[in-house]
Amino acid sequence: MRHTEMVTSKTDAGRPRATTHLKPTSADQAEAWSSGRLAAPDQVRPGVWSIAMGMPGLVNSLMTVIRDSEGAVHVIDPALDTEENWAATLTTFEALGLDLADVATVVCTHLHADHFGLTQRFRDVSEPEVIAHRIEQDWFSAGVGNPQQDRAADLERWGAPASVRTAYSEWQDAEPPRDAQFTADRLVVEGETIRLGEHALEVIHTPGHTAGHMCLHDAEHGLLFTGDHVLPTINPGLGLGGRIDPNPLAAYLDSLERIAAYDHAEVLPGHGFRFRGLRQRAERLGAHQRSRGQAVAHLVEQHPGASVWDTASRVSWTGGWEALGPVERISALAQTEMFIAAAQA
Ligand SMILES: [Zn+2]
Repeated sequence: MRHTEMVTSKTDAGRPRATTHLKPTSADQAEAWSSGRLAAPDQVRPGVWSIAMGMPGLVNSLMTVIRDSEGAVHVIDPALDTEENWAATLTTFEALGLDLADVATVVCTHLHADHFGLTQRFRDVSEPEVIAHRIEQDWFSAGVGNPQQDRAADLERWGAPASVRTAYSEWQDAEPPRDAQFTADRLVVEGETIRLGEHALEVIHTPGHTAGHMCLHDAEHGLLFTGDHVLPTINPGLGLGGRIDPNPLAAYLDSLERIAAYDHAEVLPGHGFRFRGLRQRAERLGAHQRSRGQAVAHLVEQHPGASVWDTASRVSWTGGWEALGPVERISALAQTEMFIAAAQA
């Protein structure tokens, strides 16, 4: 599917929110995010850099690069595959004195194009071991619940008006085609450890955003990689890859609760800026999803049998239903469908 859909389909509406409870740990990253520019490569720890990469519609995605004490280089969440991002990678590696041939590992928190996009480029110049969660690879390979699929069938099932379906397919046709392929060399599950030199990353399975999403905890260095499970200013969309049974909201809330236990760690999210204050942020995200779930359940009660489209159009979306772009609307509809299913369960 089209990368712009990837970009925004993972947010409710993509509008930044108040972040007073957060403590950004990089003033430059935080300032760059709020002013819509890409921050310079940001050193997090000795040998650990957070690199802001280009992301249409969402300012940035954050790719982490680690050089271990043996000189091997490890990449977490390689960004969207664009010429600009690859050029930025080359420039950054050069500036940091890193050699592309030393890339030994690529780890993806989940399989959206802004988190695995450059994997093949790294494979073209090195022989990295590519790692993802087993469940993530499963849905990606099977195409089950894959957001890269054509959405025409979904729009029809959701009861979208014909004019909207036509506009969407025209928009989709105008997007450049993308052939997203991804096959991991190693599949991991909850509790396993990924060793990146002296960085031991504990795998924490956090279903919600996607079914096989994982966070990674580097206890010794006090770092937590949260992918799109917890972002500093955006509500991640839910159910955007794979099936999460029986209730995606419950799965996400459970994942939030589990990750909140890592409150001591500094958070390196998939977008935005690095920060502390994980527990409070997780609580806020949970409250948002809970209230949206309640709103949909209420609408289902008031308008039994209404289509997903009609129900979604009655929900108050950040920025307003009418203002949602085609991609944001797809995300809103997919989430409404999930909440309807949960309300009827
Ligand atoms: Zn993302």
